[in-house]
Amino acid sequence: MMMCKDTQMRPLTLPLLICGTFLGACNQPEPLSGADIVLLNGGIYTVDSERSWAEAAAILDGRIVAVGSNASVEALIGPDSEVIDLNGRMAMPGIIDSHVHPLEGAYELVYCNLWDYSSVESIMAALQECDANSDPEDAWFQAVGLDLGVFGVTGPDKSLLDGIAEDKYAFIDASDGHAALLNDRTLDLLGFGPDTPEPRDGVIERRENSREPNGTVRESARHAVDVIRPQRSIETSIDVMNQAIQKMNTFGITGAVDTWVGEHEMQVYKALDDAGDLNLYVLGSIIDEGVFEKHVGDDLERVIRDRGQYESERISYNSVKFMVDGVFEGETAAVLEPYHTTGHLGVLNQAPEDLRVRVQHYYNMGMQLHFHTIGDRAVRTALDVLEHVRSNGDPALLEKRHALSHLGLTDAADFPRFAEQNAAVAFTAVWAYPSEWTVNLEIPAIGQERVDDMYRIRSIHEAGGVIVGSSDWNYGELDPLISVETAVTRQDPYGPSELRATTHEAVDLATIIDAYTINGAWLMHRDQDTGSVETGKLADIAIFDRNLFEIEPDELSEASVDTTIYNGRVVYRRD
Ligand SMILES: [Zn+2]
Repeated sequence: MMMCKDTQMRPLTLPLLICGTFLGACNQPEPLSGADIVLLNGGIYTVDSERSWAEAAAILDGRIVAVGSNASVEALIGPDSEVIDLNGRMAMPGIIDSHVHPLEGAYELVYCNLWDYSSVESIMAALQECDANSDPEDAWFQAVGLDLGVFGVTGPDKSLLDGIAEDKYAFIDASDGHAALLNDRTLDLLGFGPDTPEPRDGVIERRENSREPNGTVRESARHAVDVIRPQRSIETSIDVMNQAIQKMNTFGITGAVDTWVGEHEMQVYKALDDAGDLNLYVLGSIIDEGVFEKHVGDDLERVIRDRGQYESERISYNSVKFMVDGVFEGETAAVLEPYHTTGHLGVLNQAPEDLRVRVQHYYNMGMQLHFHTIGDRAVRTALDVLEHVRSNGDPALLEKRHALSHLGLTDAADFPRFAEQNAAVAFTAVWAYPSEWTVNLEIPAIGQERVDDMYRIRSIHEAGGVIVGSSDWNYGELDPLISVETAVTRQDPYGPSELRATTHEAVDLATIIDAYTINGAWLMHRDQDTGSVETGKLADIAIFDRNLFEIEPDELSEASVDTTIYNGRVVYRRD
């Protein structure tokens, strides 16, 4: 029997007790007038400790009040209950996306959106159309989602923009978020020319056999444009973020780790929360200063210190994000063995001893630590730093849960260390199949052998690491089922492919569903309250149009969400 902690908690057994605001102050049983929502005839994959299935569940005042057979739950149907007949369809806990950039995704609605185009011709056509429809008063021409996989290792050339928005500053953000294509006007504004030396922690790509910038800039050189392009207005951000969260709900997502947070994002979430429109639990990871900073120095300290004013029952900002390295394309990911193309080891954005000092500072404040790590040298550096700060910090903080994201490469010696350091591993499984991107960018940079061993989901899981699922939207696909399918098959989820795939890191469906539900809740420090369909927990449930366990693995991404329940309310229903 659970204790009555607050007015929202319901006891485990029926009839319902009404809990007072004081611990243990439960009144006499009241007659039950009926649940708000009753699910019957499932298919409910509960993700409880037994990974058991149930036929039915009932929801009252935001919480799950019963899970079991139809017969045991039907008694809770009252005159005002909404009964959802699952009719054999599958329901499971709401999905938690453990590394996502909702506001960046939201701005696809504002900027020229190139996400759907993967040929030079179609990209140019889309840019021309955006230009034709753009406001002549705008000084900037901004686009997102430029597919680097279409181009070679030095990225697209600015000639792609010939005849497009020539009187404006062009900023064409790449699909990896680490590069952008600029036109000459923007290059001039930044003073990037043949004589510009290579920037620290960044790259100005050049034309072949020349010092002339080709227009592609990476990491700190991209960030230099990011900070001078027009600031986002709070009104626009609130409007598009609201739409982004609705979109997340259509995929069954009810919780998110936003790994791209500054004060602007905090204000946006707060406004939505205050308006009752925030249908999402949010753990915001405040970005540390460095290559992608939003705040620096005293300003960053202020934002972290005063974060409580933006927090609520649904929102926490108790996390700091560190960009340990870059990405393979452009060779800014830090690797243990040299790149094939250039022979160097990539870039650690901060020297390990400097990173350790910054991380220790936030660790001692009780913050969760979230590391962007792509190369195996970055992964090892983050683990070394974690080990150092945990063994030099307050032992009371050892239960704090941390995360490493991406892990393109991981050395086998590090497999057991994630569990040892209480760190989850966030994979974007949709990247884990051979594609044009792999062929054009990754194999030239790190070679076939290392590419065959990318994204070690199974190995880290078997070594006891907590795997969490992530979209990295808008740098990856938001739809979790595309990643779920890829994690299980390690094949192209969009259709048959000629490219050779390796399957030794494939995991079974139950493992990847854990990643997207209870494990994500663990990372958010919300596993006592969500992440499984169990009596007493918050009612966060995704209902699919079919049973994912009864279909072929290559059909997983064809399934879709019919209904999403967040905090006991239906927040999405497919027409
Ligand atoms: Zn990311």
